[in-house]
Amino acid sequence: NAPLSEVDPEIAAVLEGELARQRNTLEMIASENFAPRAVLEAQGSVLTNKYAEGYPGRRYYGGCEQVDVAENLAIERVKALFGAEFANVQPHSGAQANAAALAAMIKPGDKIMGLNLAHGGHLTHGMKLNFSGKLYEVAAYGVDEKTYRVDMDKVREQALAERPQVIIAGWSAYPRQLDFAAFRSIADEVGAYLWTDMAHFAGLVAAGLHPSPVPYSDVVTSTVHKTLAGPRSGVILAKEELGKKINSSVFPGQQGGPLMHVIAAKAVAFKVAGSEEFRERQERVLEGARIIADRLTAPDVAEHGVSVLTGGTDVHLILVDLRNSVLDGKQAEDLLHSVGITVNRNSIPFDPRPPMVTSGLRIGTPALATRGFGAQEFTEVAEIIAAALKPSPDADDLRRRVSVLAENFPLYSGQEEW
Ligand code: PLP
Repeated sequence: NAPLSEVDPEIAAVLEGELARQRNTLEMIASENFAPRAVLEAQGSVLTNKYAEGYPGRRYYGGCEQVDVAENLAIERVKALFGAEFANVQPHSGAQANAAALAAMIKPGDKIMGLNLAHGGHLTHGMKLNFSGKLYEVAAYGVDEKTYRVDMDKVREQALAERPQVIIAGWSAYPRQLDFAAFRSIADEVGAYLWTDMAHFAGLVAAGLHPSPVPYSDVVTSTVHKTLAGPRSGVILAKEELGKKINSSVFPGQQGGPLMHVIAAKAVAFKVAGSEEFRERQERVLEGARIIADRLTAPDVAEHGVSVLTGGTDVHLILVDLRNSVLDGKQAEDLLHSVGITVNRNSIPFDPRPPMVTSGLRIGTPALATRGFGAQEFTEVAEIIAAALKPSPDADDLRRRVSVLAENFPLYSGQEEW
Protein backbone atom coordinates (compact mmCIF):
# COMPACT_ATOMS: atom_id res chain seq x y z
CA ASN A 1 0.00 0.00 0.00
CA ALA A 2 2.78 2.41 -0.99
CA PRO A 3 2.14 6.02 -2.12
CA LEU A 4 1.46 6.88 -5.76
CA SER A 5 4.97 8.28 -6.26
CA GLU A 6 6.35 4.80 -5.54
CA VAL A 7 3.67 2.65 -7.17
CA ASP A 8 3.48 4.66 -10.36
CA PRO A 9 6.02 7.48 -10.71
CA GLU A 10 4.87 8.17 -14.28
CA ILE A 11 1.31 8.99 -13.23
CA ALA A 12 2.60 10.83 -10.14
CA ALA A 13 4.59 13.03 -12.53
CA VAL A 14 1.44 13.75 -14.55
CA LEU A 15 -0.37 14.90 -11.40
CA GLU A 16 2.53 17.08 -10.39
CA GLY A 17 2.92 18.50 -13.86
CA GLU A 18 -0.79 19.27 -14.09
CA LEU A 19 -0.79 21.02 -10.71
CA ALA A 20 2.13 23.14 -11.89
CA ARG A 21 0.30 23.93 -15.15
CA GLN A 22 -2.84 24.98 -13.26
CA ARG A 23 -0.75 27.11 -10.90
CA ASN A 24 1.44 28.82 -13.49
CA THR A 25 -1.11 29.64 -16.19
CA LEU A 26 -4.43 31.48 -16.29
CA GLU A 27 -7.31 29.05 -16.80
CA MET A 28 -10.02 30.70 -18.88
CA ILE A 29 -11.86 27.75 -20.39
CA ALA A 30 -15.47 28.68 -19.66
CA SER A 31 -16.47 25.15 -18.63
CA GLU A 32 -13.63 24.68 -16.12
CA ASN A 33 -13.09 25.61 -12.50
CA PHE A 34 -10.99 24.70 -9.48
CA ALA A 35 -12.73 22.31 -7.10
CA PRO A 36 -12.05 23.16 -3.46
CA ARG A 37 -9.75 20.95 -1.42
CA ALA A 38 -12.76 19.56 0.49
CA VAL A 39 -14.31 18.35 -2.79
CA LEU A 40 -11.02 16.73 -3.88
CA GLU A 41 -10.76 15.04 -0.50
CA ALA A 42 -14.24 13.51 -0.72
CA GLN A 43 -13.69 12.50 -4.34
CA GLY A 44 -10.34 10.86 -3.62
CA SER A 45 -11.72 8.85 -0.71
CA VAL A 46 -12.49 5.25 0.29
CA LEU A 47 -16.04 5.74 -0.96
CA THR A 48 -14.67 4.77 -4.38
CA ASN A 49 -14.58 1.19 -3.04
CA LYS A 50 -18.32 0.90 -2.50
CA TYR A 51 -20.97 -0.63 -4.76
CA ALA A 52 -24.40 0.87 -4.14
CA GLU A 53 -26.70 0.07 -7.07
CA GLY A 54 -30.16 1.41 -6.30
CA TYR A 55 -31.11 4.42 -4.23
CA PRO A 56 -30.78 5.33 -0.52
CA GLY A 57 -32.76 2.82 1.56
CA ARG A 58 -33.35 0.62 -1.53
CA ARG A 59 -29.94 -0.77 -2.51
CA TYR A 60 -29.02 -4.01 -4.20
CA TYR A 61 -25.89 -4.31 -2.01
CA GLY A 62 -25.26 -4.54 1.71
CA GLY A 63 -23.12 -2.15 3.71
CA CYS A 64 -24.61 1.00 2.26
CA GLU A 65 -25.38 2.74 5.56
CA GLN A 66 -22.65 5.38 5.16
CA VAL A 67 -23.08 6.04 1.46
CA ASP A 68 -26.84 6.40 1.98
CA VAL A 69 -26.12 9.34 4.27
CA ALA A 70 -23.89 10.94 1.64
CA GLU A 71 -26.42 10.51 -1.17
CA ASN A 72 -29.31 11.81 0.93
CA LEU A 73 -27.26 14.87 1.88
CA ALA A 74 -26.44 15.52 -1.79
CA ILE A 75 -30.11 15.18 -2.77
CA GLU A 76 -31.47 17.40 0.01
CA ARG A 77 -28.80 20.06 -0.50
CA VAL A 78 -29.24 20.36 -4.26
CA LYS A 79 -33.03 20.48 -3.91
CA ALA A 80 -32.71 23.30 -1.37
CA LEU A 81 -30.07 25.11 -3.42
CA PHE A 82 -32.29 25.34 -6.50
CA GLY A 83 -35.76 25.06 -4.97
CA ALA A 84 -36.38 21.79 -6.83
CA GLU A 85 -39.05 19.22 -5.98
CA PHE A 86 -36.95 16.21 -7.02
CA ALA A 87 -33.26 15.45 -7.59
CA ASN A 88 -31.21 12.54 -8.88
CA VAL A 89 -27.51 12.97 -8.06
CA GLN A 90 -26.23 9.77 -9.68
CA PRO A 91 -25.39 10.77 -13.29
CA HIS A 92 -21.68 10.25 -13.90
CA SER A 93 -21.52 13.24 -16.22
CA GLY A 94 -23.55 15.98 -17.86
CA ALA A 95 -24.00 13.90 -21.00
CA GLN A 96 -25.34 10.96 -18.98
CA ALA A 97 -27.71 13.21 -17.06
CA ASN A 98 -29.01 14.43 -20.41
CA ALA A 99 -29.38 10.92 -21.84
CA ALA A 100 -31.33 9.83 -18.77
CA ALA A 101 -33.49 12.97 -18.77
CA LEU A 102 -34.52 12.44 -22.39
CA ALA A 103 -35.17 8.74 -21.87
CA ALA A 104 -37.49 9.62 -18.95
CA MET A 105 -39.54 12.06 -21.03
CA ILE A 106 -39.80 10.54 -24.51
CA LYS A 107 -39.17 7.44 -26.58
CA PRO A 108 -36.82 6.86 -29.52
CA GLY A 109 -38.20 8.43 -32.67
CA ASP A 110 -39.83 11.34 -30.85
CA LYS A 111 -38.75 14.86 -31.74
CA ILE A 112 -36.51 17.20 -29.75
CA MET A 113 -35.81 20.86 -30.49
CA GLY A 114 -32.75 22.55 -29.03
CA LEU A 115 -30.19 25.19 -29.93
CA ASN A 116 -28.11 24.26 -32.97
CA LEU A 117 -24.64 23.01 -31.96
CA ALA A 118 -23.06 25.48 -34.39
CA HIS A 119 -24.92 28.31 -32.64
CA GLY A 120 -23.88 27.36 -29.10
CA GLY A 121 -25.94 24.26 -28.30
CA HIS A 122 -24.47 21.06 -26.83
CA LEU A 123 -23.77 17.71 -28.51
CA THR A 124 -26.46 16.06 -26.38
CA HIS A 125 -29.12 18.47 -27.68
CA GLY A 126 -29.39 16.66 -31.02
CA MET A 127 -26.00 16.47 -32.77
CA LYS A 128 -26.20 13.73 -35.41
CA LEU A 129 -23.26 11.62 -34.16
CA ASN A 130 -24.43 11.84 -30.53
CA PHE A 131 -27.00 9.48 -28.96
CA SER A 132 -29.45 12.40 -29.03
CA GLY A 133 -29.23 12.77 -32.80
CA LYS A 134 -29.30 9.02 -33.37
CA LEU A 135 -32.22 8.14 -31.09
CA TYR A 136 -34.46 11.13 -31.65
CA GLU A 137 -35.68 13.24 -34.49
CA VAL A 138 -34.08 16.65 -34.31
CA ALA A 139 -35.31 20.12 -35.19
CA ALA A 140 -32.76 22.71 -34.10
CA TYR A 141 -33.39 26.43 -33.65
CA GLY A 142 -30.64 28.98 -34.22
CA VAL A 143 -29.72 32.50 -33.17
CA ASP A 144 -30.81 35.54 -35.15
CA GLU A 145 -28.41 36.48 -37.96
CA LYS A 146 -28.16 40.10 -36.90
CA THR A 147 -28.45 40.07 -33.10
CA TYR A 148 -26.89 36.63 -32.48
CA ARG A 149 -29.56 36.14 -29.84
CA VAL A 150 -32.28 33.51 -29.56
CA ASP A 151 -35.42 35.14 -30.93
CA MET A 152 -38.39 33.70 -29.03
CA ASP A 153 -40.86 34.61 -31.79
CA LYS A 154 -38.87 32.46 -34.19
CA VAL A 155 -38.58 29.64 -31.64
CA ARG A 156 -42.37 29.73 -31.27
CA GLU A 157 -42.95 29.69 -35.02
CA GLN A 158 -40.59 26.77 -35.43
CA ALA A 159 -42.07 24.85 -32.50
CA LEU A 160 -45.56 25.27 -33.95
CA ALA A 161 -44.35 23.97 -37.31
CA GLU A 162 -42.23 21.10 -35.93
CA ARG A 163 -44.37 20.01 -32.92
CA PRO A 164 -41.44 18.58 -30.89
CA GLN A 165 -42.12 16.44 -27.79
CA VAL A 166 -39.26 18.13 -25.92
CA ILE A 167 -38.04 21.71 -26.20
CA ILE A 168 -34.52 22.28 -24.90
CA ALA A 169 -33.35 25.53 -23.35
CA GLY A 170 -29.66 25.75 -22.51
CA TRP A 171 -26.30 26.12 -24.16
CA SER A 172 -22.55 25.60 -24.09
CA ALA A 173 -21.56 28.82 -25.84
CA TYR A 174 -24.03 31.70 -25.61
CA PRO A 175 -23.28 34.95 -23.81
CA ARG A 176 -26.80 35.99 -22.81
CA GLN A 177 -29.68 34.88 -20.57
CA LEU A 178 -32.59 32.90 -21.98
CA ASP A 179 -36.25 33.77 -21.45
CA PHE A 180 -37.46 30.70 -19.54
CA ALA A 181 -41.03 32.02 -19.16
CA ALA A 182 -41.30 32.33 -22.95
CA PHE A 183 -39.88 28.81 -23.41
CA ARG A 184 -42.50 27.53 -20.92
CA SER A 185 -45.38 29.14 -22.72
CA ILE A 186 -44.20 27.80 -26.11
CA ALA A 187 -43.83 24.30 -24.63
CA ASP A 188 -47.37 24.54 -23.25
CA GLU A 189 -48.69 25.76 -26.58
CA VAL A 190 -47.30 22.77 -28.48
CA GLY A 191 -47.74 20.23 -25.66
CA ALA A 192 -44.00 19.62 -25.22
CA TYR A 193 -41.87 19.03 -22.16
CA LEU A 194 -39.47 21.85 -21.35
CA TRP A 195 -36.01 20.62 -20.47
CA THR A 196 -33.38 23.17 -19.44
CA ASP A 197 -29.72 22.21 -19.47
CA MET A 198 -28.13 24.75 -17.12
CA ALA A 199 -24.71 23.05 -17.08
CA HIS A 200 -22.91 26.29 -17.81
CA PHE A 201 -24.78 28.80 -15.70
CA ALA A 202 -25.89 26.68 -12.71
CA GLY A 203 -23.41 28.42 -10.37
CA LEU A 204 -24.87 31.80 -11.29
CA VAL A 205 -28.39 30.47 -10.65
CA ALA A 206 -27.32 29.05 -7.27
CA ALA A 207 -25.95 32.47 -6.35
CA GLY A 208 -29.18 34.22 -7.38
CA LEU A 209 -27.36 36.14 -10.12
CA HIS A 210 -29.13 34.53 -13.08
CA PRO A 211 -32.84 33.73 -13.53
CA SER A 212 -33.66 30.20 -12.42
CA PRO A 213 -35.10 27.79 -15.00
CA VAL A 214 -36.35 25.49 -12.23
CA PRO A 215 -39.84 26.96 -11.75
CA TYR A 216 -40.49 26.90 -15.52
CA SER A 217 -39.00 23.58 -16.58
CA ASP A 218 -40.27 20.00 -16.31
CA VAL A 219 -36.66 18.83 -16.07
CA VAL A 220 -33.41 20.70 -15.41
CA THR A 221 -30.04 19.01 -15.88
CA SER A 222 -26.62 20.31 -15.01
CA THR A 223 -23.00 19.43 -14.71
CA VAL A 224 -21.51 20.00 -11.28
CA HIS A 225 -17.98 20.98 -12.36
CA LYS A 226 -18.42 24.19 -14.33
CA THR A 227 -19.63 27.37 -12.57
CA LEU A 228 -20.75 25.12 -9.68
CA ALA A 229 -17.08 24.21 -9.02
CA GLY A 230 -17.77 20.68 -7.82
CA PRO A 231 -16.57 17.25 -8.97
CA ARG A 232 -16.79 16.32 -12.66
CA SER A 233 -20.32 14.87 -12.85
CA GLY A 234 -24.02 15.55 -13.51
CA VAL A 235 -27.32 16.04 -11.72
CA ILE A 236 -31.01 16.01 -12.70
CA LEU A 237 -33.72 18.16 -11.10
CA ALA A 238 -37.39 17.76 -11.90
CA LYS A 239 -40.99 18.15 -10.94
CA GLU A 240 -41.98 15.46 -8.44
CA GLU A 241 -44.26 13.64 -10.90
CA LEU A 242 -41.31 12.80 -13.17
CA GLY A 243 -39.14 11.61 -10.28
CA LYS A 244 -39.86 7.88 -10.53
CA LYS A 245 -39.28 7.81 -14.27
CA ILE A 246 -36.02 9.71 -13.91
CA ASN A 247 -34.70 7.43 -11.19
CA SER A 248 -35.45 4.38 -13.25
CA SER A 249 -33.99 5.94 -16.36
CA VAL A 250 -30.65 6.70 -14.58
CA PHE A 251 -30.50 3.30 -12.84
CA PRO A 252 -31.00 0.72 -14.28
CA GLY A 253 -31.71 2.60 -17.52
CA GLN A 254 -28.35 4.23 -18.22
CA GLN A 255 -25.93 3.36 -15.44
CA GLY A 256 -24.86 0.63 -13.04
CA GLY A 257 -23.24 1.39 -9.71
CA PRO A 258 -23.20 5.07 -8.74
CA LEU A 259 -19.83 6.72 -8.05
CA MET A 260 -20.32 7.22 -4.32
CA HIS A 261 -17.06 9.14 -3.86
CA VAL A 262 -18.23 11.60 -6.51
CA ILE A 263 -21.70 11.82 -4.98
CA ALA A 264 -20.13 12.68 -1.61
CA ALA A 265 -18.06 15.34 -3.36
CA LYS A 266 -21.25 16.69 -4.98
CA ALA A 267 -22.80 17.00 -1.52
CA VAL A 268 -19.79 19.09 -0.44
CA ALA A 269 -20.00 21.28 -3.56
CA PHE A 270 -23.74 21.90 -3.05
CA LYS A 271 -23.05 22.96 0.54
CA VAL A 272 -20.32 25.38 -0.58
CA ALA A 273 -22.58 26.73 -3.36
CA GLY A 274 -25.09 27.82 -0.74
CA SER A 275 -22.56 30.00 1.05
CA GLU A 276 -22.11 33.77 1.00
CA GLU A 277 -18.50 33.28 -0.10
CA PHE A 278 -19.73 31.42 -3.19
CA ARG A 279 -22.23 34.16 -4.02
CA GLU A 280 -19.55 36.83 -3.76
CA ARG A 281 -17.31 34.75 -6.02
CA GLN A 282 -20.03 34.49 -8.69
CA GLU A 283 -20.32 38.29 -8.60
CA ARG A 284 -16.64 38.47 -9.51
CA VAL A 285 -17.24 35.90 -12.27
CA LEU A 286 -19.80 38.25 -13.85
CA GLU A 287 -17.79 41.39 -13.24
CA GLY A 288 -14.68 39.82 -14.80
CA ALA A 289 -16.60 38.75 -17.90
CA ARG A 290 -18.04 42.26 -18.33
CA ILE A 291 -14.59 43.85 -17.94
CA ILE A 292 -13.11 41.59 -20.63
CA ALA A 293 -16.08 42.11 -22.97
CA ASP A 294 -15.78 45.90 -22.56
CA ARG A 295 -12.06 45.83 -23.27
CA LEU A 296 -12.43 43.65 -26.35
CA THR A 297 -15.10 45.95 -27.82
CA ALA A 298 -12.92 49.09 -27.49
CA PRO A 299 -11.96 50.86 -30.77
CA ASP A 300 -8.23 50.00 -30.57
CA VAL A 301 -9.14 46.29 -30.64
CA ALA A 302 -12.13 46.58 -32.99
CA GLU A 303 -10.01 48.28 -35.66
CA HIS A 304 -8.14 44.97 -36.03
CA GLY A 305 -11.31 43.05 -36.86
CA VAL A 306 -11.89 41.60 -33.39
CA SER A 307 -15.41 41.84 -31.94
CA VAL A 308 -17.55 40.32 -29.21
CA LEU A 309 -20.75 38.47 -30.17
CA THR A 310 -23.87 40.35 -29.03
CA GLY A 311 -21.56 43.22 -27.99
CA GLY A 312 -21.14 41.97 -24.42
CA THR A 313 -22.20 39.34 -21.91
CA ASP A 314 -24.70 38.63 -19.11
CA VAL A 315 -22.93 35.48 -17.96
CA HIS A 316 -19.50 33.99 -17.22
CA LEU A 317 -18.22 33.89 -20.78
CA ILE A 318 -17.43 36.02 -23.78
CA LEU A 319 -17.53 34.86 -27.39
CA VAL A 320 -14.92 36.61 -29.49
CA ASP A 321 -15.69 36.93 -33.20
CA LEU A 322 -12.54 36.76 -35.32
CA ARG A 323 -14.18 36.59 -38.74
CA ASN A 324 -12.65 39.96 -39.69
CA SER A 325 -9.32 39.41 -37.93
CA VAL A 326 -6.13 38.06 -39.53
CA LEU A 327 -6.21 35.41 -36.77
CA ASP A 328 -8.51 32.39 -36.90
CA GLY A 329 -9.74 30.66 -33.73
CA LYS A 330 -6.93 28.12 -33.70
CA GLN A 331 -4.21 30.72 -34.14
CA ALA A 332 -5.72 32.93 -31.42
CA GLU A 333 -6.02 29.96 -29.03
CA ASP A 334 -2.37 29.02 -29.69
CA LEU A 335 -1.23 32.60 -29.27
CA LEU A 336 -2.93 32.97 -25.89
CA HIS A 337 -1.60 29.56 -24.86
CA SER A 338 1.93 30.73 -25.68
CA VAL A 339 1.60 33.60 -23.19
CA GLY A 340 0.06 31.37 -20.50
CA ILE A 341 -3.68 31.93 -20.95
CA THR A 342 -5.78 28.82 -21.66
CA VAL A 343 -8.99 29.33 -23.67
CA ASN A 344 -10.73 27.30 -26.33
CA ARG A 345 -11.41 28.13 -29.93
CA ASN A 346 -15.10 27.96 -30.64
CA SER A 347 -17.27 27.98 -33.72
CA ILE A 348 -19.43 31.04 -33.85
CA PRO A 349 -22.86 31.13 -35.51
CA PHE A 350 -22.58 31.25 -39.33
CA ASP A 351 -18.86 30.43 -39.03
CA PRO A 352 -17.19 30.19 -42.44
CA ARG A 353 -14.33 28.06 -41.01
CA PRO A 354 -14.44 24.34 -40.09
CA PRO A 355 -14.90 23.25 -36.43
CA MET A 356 -11.22 22.31 -36.01
CA VAL A 357 -10.19 25.87 -36.94
CA THR A 358 -13.17 28.14 -36.21
CA SER A 359 -13.49 31.92 -36.21
CA GLY A 360 -14.12 32.34 -32.51
CA LEU A 361 -12.76 32.13 -29.01
CA ARG A 362 -14.73 31.29 -25.87
CA ILE A 363 -13.27 33.00 -22.83
CA GLY A 364 -14.61 32.30 -19.33
CA THR A 365 -13.96 33.78 -15.91
CA PRO A 366 -15.15 31.16 -13.32
CA ALA A 367 -11.76 29.55 -12.62
CA LEU A 368 -9.94 32.84 -12.15
CA ALA A 369 -12.71 34.18 -9.91
CA THR A 370 -12.33 31.04 -7.79
CA ARG A 371 -8.63 31.76 -7.66
CA GLY A 372 -9.48 35.14 -6.13
CA PHE A 373 -9.36 37.50 -9.10
CA GLY A 374 -11.43 40.69 -8.78
CA ALA A 375 -11.93 43.80 -10.91
CA GLN A 376 -8.28 44.85 -10.76
CA GLU A 377 -6.88 41.50 -11.89
CA PHE A 378 -9.56 41.00 -14.56
CA THR A 379 -8.68 44.45 -15.93
CA GLU A 380 -5.06 43.33 -16.29
CA VAL A 381 -6.18 40.03 -17.88
CA ALA A 382 -8.35 42.00 -20.33
CA GLU A 383 -5.35 44.20 -21.24
CA ILE A 384 -3.18 41.13 -21.84
CA ILE A 385 -5.79 39.46 -24.07
CA ALA A 386 -6.42 42.71 -25.98
CA ALA A 387 -2.69 43.15 -26.58
CA ALA A 388 -2.32 39.51 -27.68
CA LEU A 389 -5.10 39.83 -30.26
CA LYS A 390 -3.64 43.01 -31.78
CA PRO A 391 -0.86 42.80 -34.40
CA SER A 392 2.75 42.13 -33.28
CA PRO A 393 2.20 41.40 -29.59
CA ASP A 394 5.22 41.47 -27.27
CA ALA A 395 4.86 37.85 -26.16
CA ASP A 396 7.68 37.97 -23.60
CA ASP A 397 6.13 40.93 -21.83
CA LEU A 398 2.65 39.33 -21.86
CA ARG A 399 4.04 36.07 -20.50
CA ARG A 400 5.75 37.98 -17.68
CA ARG A 401 2.49 39.80 -16.81
CA VAL A 402 0.63 36.46 -16.73
CA SER A 403 3.28 35.06 -14.36
CA VAL A 404 2.89 38.01 -12.00
CA LEU A 405 -0.86 37.43 -11.78
CA ALA A 406 -0.41 33.68 -11.28
CA GLU A 407 2.20 34.17 -8.55
CA ASN A 408 0.01 36.66 -6.71
CA PHE A 409 -2.80 34.10 -6.48
CA PRO A 410 -1.21 30.79 -5.49
CA LEU A 411 -3.44 27.83 -6.18
CA TYR A 412 -4.04 25.03 -3.65
CA SER A 413 -1.66 26.76 -1.28
CA GLY A 414 -3.81 26.11 1.79
CA GLN A 415 -4.22 29.87 2.18
CA GLU A 416 -7.32 30.37 0.00
CA GLU A 417 -10.66 31.22 1.56
CA TRP A 418 -12.39 28.43 -0.40
N1 PLP B 1 -24.56 20.15 -21.24
C1 PLP B 1 -23.93 21.30 -21.55
C2 PLP B 1 -24.74 22.51 -21.82
C3 PLP B 1 -22.54 21.33 -21.59
O1 PLP B 1 -21.92 22.45 -21.93
C4 PLP B 1 -21.83 20.13 -21.32
C5 PLP B 1 -20.35 20.08 -21.33
O2 PLP B 1 -19.65 20.82 -21.87
C6 PLP B 1 -22.53 18.97 -21.04
C7 PLP B 1 -23.90 19.01 -20.99
C8 PLP B 1 -21.85 17.63 -20.88
O3 PLP B 1 -21.17 17.49 -19.73
P1 PLP B 1 -20.09 16.31 -19.57
O4 PLP B 1 -18.87 16.78 -20.29
O5 PLP B 1 -19.92 16.19 -18.09
O6 PLP B 1 -20.67 15.09 -20.17
